[in-house]
Amino acid sequence: MHHVDIPPGELNEFDLPPICIVTGERQGVVFKPVNFTWYPRWIGFLALLNLLIAIIVASAMTKRVTGTLPFTEEAWSRWKRGQVIMVVSVVVAIALLILAFSLLASDAPEWLGVVALASSVAVPVLAWVYFLRGRGPQVRRIDKDNLSLAIPNGPAAYAIAGHFLAGLKSPALDDGESLDANGAPARALCARHDDIVATQVCTRCGAFMCPRCENRIRREALPLCPGCWELRGRTIAVQAKDPGITLVNSGLFVGVISVIPMCYAAHAVSLVLNTVSLVRNRHPDSPRIDRKKAIAGLALTGIGLLLTLGMRLYSGGW
Ligand SMILES: [Zn+2]
Ligand SMILES: [Zn+2]
Repeated sequence: MHHVDIPPGELNEFDLPPICIVTGERQGVVFKPVNFTWYPRWIGFLALLNLLIAIIVASAMTKRVTGTLPFTEEAWSRWKRGQVIMVVSVVVAIALLILAFSLLASDAPEWLGVVALASSVAVPVLAWVYFLRGRGPQVRRIDKDNLSLAIPNGPAAYAIAGHFLAGLKSPALDDGESLDANGAPARALCARHDDIVATQVCTRCGAFMCPRCENRIRREALPLCPGCWELRGRTIAVQAKDPGITLVNSGLFVGVISVIPMCYAAHAVSLVLNTVSLVRNRHPDSPRIDRKKAIAGLALTGIGLLLTLGMRLYSGGW
């Protein structure tokens, strides 16, 4: 696997070169939707202490990136197939595990249980090795200004890394030559300004453009023409709508659980999460729905606490 770092908001067909990340092919490449989630690995240790709290912290800290990545149709369907096989193998493994424990607890020969136990481990490992490994991208880390991925194809990783810096090359030397059709002294003109000589070609549609028409996401990025830039803005606005798992949503989720009386861990976590999200969303311009969710979470916990109190009083448990 090869590492690529993708700047935020550039996981899309406008900012990535069309090269299949699995095979490195440049022909027949289609941008396919992808969705990466990541949370800090120390949360795993928290699970040893308290599983519920670990799940809640993980859901609050999970970072999520959606976008599109270039694949050939074949590589894409192979990766998707691998994911389906992996899910099926995990289900089979769980069934084998249950079978193994019931065999070990029964009068059946012990080796039967051991075989079932061993195959519950072997099935998902083999499925991963033969059907998923090296077939698609893997997230390594997500933070505020970077999405770090591992992709199967080396040349594709190289092309993507180069693409992000390609705008640093002096355009005058590069494109001045290529725009000079048939060596004629007349240079190509900007597609929008027919009195200005073009200095760049749009990386997406190939339109000629003058310096005034260049649009770049970063200074080092390749320029897009005004048409492609506008389309990019619209496309990404649609992609960015997915809010994913947020602090507010996990607060509400735990709030619902905390209605159950005597569930002290849920009460405590709900109070903390919902108070934090209420404080974070206290500004008048933050979404009202988020404030309402936090208040609803706290109210549900209040009900849970009252029920706890009632049960305690009723059973004389003080
Ligand atoms: Zn364009
Ligand atoms: Zn122009």
